[in-house]
Amino acid sequence: MITEDARALLSTGAVCDSCLGRPFADRSFGLTNAERGRALRTTVALADDEDFETTAPADCWVCEGYCGTFDAVAETIVDALEGTEFATYQVGTRVPPLVEENERLLREDAGLEPDVGESMKREMNREVGRRVGATTETEVDFDRPDVLAVVDLAGFDPLEALEAETVTSHAVDVQINPAFVYGRYRKLERDIPQTEWPCRECGGSGVQLGDDGEEPCDYCGGSGYMYDTSVEQVVRPHVVDAMDGDEGTFHGAGREDVDARMLEEGRPFVLEVKRPAVRDPDPAELEAEINDAADGAVEVDGLRLATYEMVERVKEHDASKHYRADVAFAEPVDGDAFETALDELEGTTVEQYTPERVDHRRAGLTRERTVYAIDGDLRSPTEAEVRLHGEGGLYVKELISSDGGRTEPSLAGLLGTDAEVTALDVTGVEGENEPFEREAYFLDEPRDGSEPATGDA
Ligand SMILES: [Zn+2]
Ligand SMILES: [Zn+2]
Repeated sequence: MITEDARALLSTGAVCDSCLGRPFADRSFGLTNAERGRALRTTVALADDEDFETTAPADCWVCEGYCGTFDAVAETIVDALEGTEFATYQVGTRVPPLVEENERLLREDAGLEPDVGESMKREMNREVGRRVGATTETEVDFDRPDVLAVVDLAGFDPLEALEAETVTSHAVDVQINPAFVYGRYRKLERDIPQTEWPCRECGGSGVQLGDDGEEPCDYCGGSGYMYDTSVEQVVRPHVVDAMDGDEGTFHGAGREDVDARMLEEGRPFVLEVKRPAVRDPDPAELEAEINDAADGAVEVDGLRLATYEMVERVKEHDASKHYRADVAFAEPVDGDAFETALDELEGTTVEQYTPERVDHRRAGLTRERTVYAIDGDLRSPTEAEVRLHGEGGLYVKELISSDGGRTEPSLAGLLGTDAEVTALDVTGVEGENEPFEREAYFLDEPRDGSEPATGDA
C-alpha cells in the first residue's frame, strides 16, 4: 500500500527525497522526511528491480530546490543573529503560492488526499530551526521565543542558493522580542512624576515660535518637560544600556500623585526593553548603578529579570495601598471628635464620585472603595497626621476633604470642617490576595540580599 503510494508519487515526475517523504510524515517518528523518501525510493526500486536513481532537490518539480537549502537558510539566520544573546528561538517560513500549489498537485496526481502528511512550511520551520538551535545551542519555543526568524522563500532563488550554499540576508527577517526587568521604586522627593511628562505648551519640543523664529519654550524653559525628571527617566536609560536595546517602556503598578512621595517598600514596576542584544544583565549591578546616578531622589530595589507576563501582572494585579497624610483643618478640631471620626471611617466602604482633578475627559462615575484601617494623631487643633490602608483606587485626598460632598463619608464631613491633605506619602503597595513577586514571573534566581563577603575577618 505505502509502496504503491510511493510509486504513484514517483510517477508524477522528478521528486526529491524530502518531497517524497513528506506525505508520510506521520509515520515512523524519528526519521526526517528525506530519510523516509530515500527509504521509499529504495523500496520501490527493489520491488520493481529497477536501477536506483536519486533526484536532487535542484531537479525536483515540487519544491524547485528549496528542500536543499536548509543549511544555507539556517546559516543566514545565525549570521543575522550575530551579537544578539538569546536562549530560545522560533523559525517561521513563508512559502510561495506556486510551491504550495505543487505540493497539492503532487498528492492529487498520486491519488492521495491533497494535504496528507506534512507541509513544506512545517518541514522548513523544523529543519531550519533544528540547525539554528544546534549551532547556537538554544532551544525552540513556540510560545514566546527570545528571537523569531521569518524566512521568505520568495526572497531568494533556490537554485542560486544551492550553488552558492548561502542565501541573501534580505530573505530573512529577524525579530528580537523585548526583555523585562522588574523592581520596586521609591520616590523620596515630591514633584517627580512616575513617567516622563512632555510640556503641555510645546508638546515636548522645548521650542516655541517667537518674532525671530524658534526660541526656547517659556513654559518649560526649553527642557520640553513639565518636570525636571521622572522615575522613568531615572531608571530607563540604565536598563536600556545594560541590555543594549533600542528603547524602553516603563510600566508601573498604578501611580501616585506627582506631589506624593513613594516610601518604604516602594511600588512595583517593569521596564520593558525593545530589541535587546543582552538579555541577562546583572540585576544587582544595574540596581547599584541606577541608585548611584539617581542621587537620592529616586531609589530602586529588588531588581530581577522578569518574564513577559510580569507586565500584565504589575498592571492588573489588585493591590491595596498604605498612605501617610499631613492634614490641615480650617477650624480647630476636638481630640475626641477626631478619634470618633477615624473610628467611623475604619472599615467603611466609601462612595466617591470621580474627582475633577483626575480626568476632565472621563465621564463621572461613583466608585466604592473600602478603608481597611485608619488611625492618626492630632498634632495641634488644626493639624493632624493620618495613616491609612485602603483598597486600590481609593481617592485619599478626597476621603479627607470630601471633594465638595462628592466623597461620602469623609473626614471633613464627619468633623464638620474643611480639611485638606497638605502632604501625602504612599507607604506601601501590596497585592490584595498574594504578593506581586511570585517566582513564576522571574527568569533569574532570587538574591539573598546579603552583601558579598569582603574578606576583612
Ligand atoms: Zn523537492
Ligand atoms: Zn515647553
